[in-house]
Amino acid sequence: MDAKKTAAELALEDQIRAAGADAADAETARRGAARRIPVRQAPQWYRTASATMQAALATGRLTHCEHLAGGPQPVVLLAERPEHWYCRPCAQLGRATRRCLHCGRPAGGLTPKGGHEEVVQGPVVTYSMVRCPDCFAQDTEVPSTFRQD
Ligand SMILES: [Zn+2]
Ligand SMILES: [Zn+2]
Repeated sequence: MDAKKTAAELALEDQIRAAGADAADAETARRGAARRIPVRQAPQWYRTASATMQAALATGRLTHCEHLAGGPQPVVLLAERPEHWYCRPCAQLGRATRRCLHCGRPAGGLTPKGGHEEVVQGPVVTYSMVRCPDCFAQDTEVPSTFRQD
């Protein structure tokens, strides 16, 4: 445990952890085409997003949507905005306007012909990254073009 975390932060993490496991399976089924990546493979975009989130949490910069104050529920972290926690509905609402993490262009619908999503299901947070069709077709890596709004 990180001794620098406040009691409130730890309590929030515990709430999220309790809800996260059950939600993970349903989330996967509903996302359909999203590519699941095991945490142990730790792609660079996931490591960057996680490190940025942890730094934001430690320094009090982390924000979250208003719905996450209401009790245990899944948390979604979008790679392009790693200092903000989304509840699942808010993350879904934002899908249509998400941008490719590599080139920054609109990723399009998250369909086989539109944007492509990769998901890492952590123990607490679901991490999501999207690429546009062109970058996906080239299997473009996204380690150094990390974008923050
Ligand atoms: Zn929300
Ligand atoms: Zn792109």
